[in-house]
Amino acid sequence: MEQLENLYEKTGISKEVLDFSKKILRDLEERFEEADKVAEYNQLKVIAAMQKNRVSDIHFAATTGYGYNDLGRETLEAVYADAFHAEAALVRPQITCGTHALTVALAANLRPGDELLSPVGKPYDTLEGVIGIKETKGSLAEYNISYRQVDLLPNGDFDYEGIKNAIKSNTKMVTIQRSKGYATRPTLSVTKIGELIRFIKDIREDIICMVDNCYGEFVEVMEPTDVGADLCVGSLIKNPGGGLASTGGYIVGKEEYVDNCAYRLTTPGLGKEVGATLGINQQLFQGFFMAPTVVCGALKSAIFAANIYEKLGFKVVPNATEPRYDIIQSVTLGSREGMIAFCEGIQAAAPVDSYVKPEPWAMPGYHSDVIMAAGAFVQGSSIELSADGPIEPPFAVYFQGGLTWYHGKLGIMMSLQKMIEAGLISL
Ligand SMILES: *Cc1c(COP(=O)(O)O)cnc(C)c1O
Repeated sequence: MEQLENLYEKTGISKEVLDFSKKILRDLEERFEEADKVAEYNQLKVIAAMQKNRVSDIHFAATTGYGYNDLGRETLEAVYADAFHAEAALVRPQITCGTHALTVALAANLRPGDELLSPVGKPYDTLEGVIGIKETKGSLAEYNISYRQVDLLPNGDFDYEGIKNAIKSNTKMVTIQRSKGYATRPTLSVTKIGELIRFIKDIREDIICMVDNCYGEFVEVMEPTDVGADLCVGSLIKNPGGGLASTGGYIVGKEEYVDNCAYRLTTPGLGKEVGATLGINQQLFQGFFMAPTVVCGALKSAIFAANIYEKLGFKVVPNATEPRYDIIQSVTLGSREGMIAFCEGIQAAAPVDSYVKPEPWAMPGYHSDVIMAAGAFVQGSSIELSADGPIEPPFAVYFQGGLTWYHGKLGIMMSLQKMIEAGLISL
């Protein structure tokens, strides 16, 4: 493989980075095999759902205008519902992002006077405005929907006593974020989410349990809907879009609650019946079909990054050996310069915009400057190789994605290269 090494060197990866990476990779065979097995299982699950619903090329045709009788849209929703073992699904290009999908699910199922509870601590940054934790036009708070939060215990466990006390007579809905997002708390496994849902349902069966599933899809063989979640929500430019979906979001779960979402997304009365798909159904089907393999590549990239950076003495979450429940890898680089060098490496390895230098900026919805490296085919797609993080202590980058493992590998090696070139580390 002399030629491969030469090609890496031409790409800008030094021999020392390559040798260091090779040594790390030697110990990862078993982990990679495990990831392959999960992907194989999930691939079969998706294919079975497509076969059961008789997916055919008529489903790839475009609809326009009102989008009545969009067979492709209806079949895609049936495929999602089956793959998630749920009663119903809403999978739409009109859902603009993950935050929007979550907003629809919350606003559709909460009414004035109701309370929303997060039993897993502060939700993802962009949700602060949605809920009204931070004063924002149109927030749930403006509609007299209140919010309560119970933080995880310092060891990452649920505060069961605190949760029990926080459930009031007007607690209508619970939001459980699977992934850590921009926090340093652990990501929740589907099994743990199931335990939490059971605890809540034992107190009051009628509380709607929603899971923010962003970044979690296809990482395990189970999804939150397999362990009692009433609603499970995510973005199509993350895991389930498989890198091919150019926009959209999904909501799966109990029919009654999903129908409410449709009435909120479109209009009362029209619900699921409208919403032209303008020809993107084929992407959405094909992306869902690719997603288990794509997620597997992203997982391998995250495992590789954890092992590289832990070896160099940086704090990584998850650590080099622990099991994974989402595709996110955080690496605490400890300085602004470290974050910039890391992100420059990820950017330089991209197929798109590799010549661009990422700069920190005040991104809407986030409370400090954020640096983002992404050379993506789809704007903001974080199933594609990307790294980002708020420029504030402890100066952690959140690294995720990679449509292929080989691209993920190159990106991580390049980040290492840039850190060395900036004089921040030596091998
Ligand atoms: C990405 C993400 C969101 C928001 O999704 P956007 O598509 O960026 O709006 C919400 N929750 C979690 C945990 C996420 O990772």
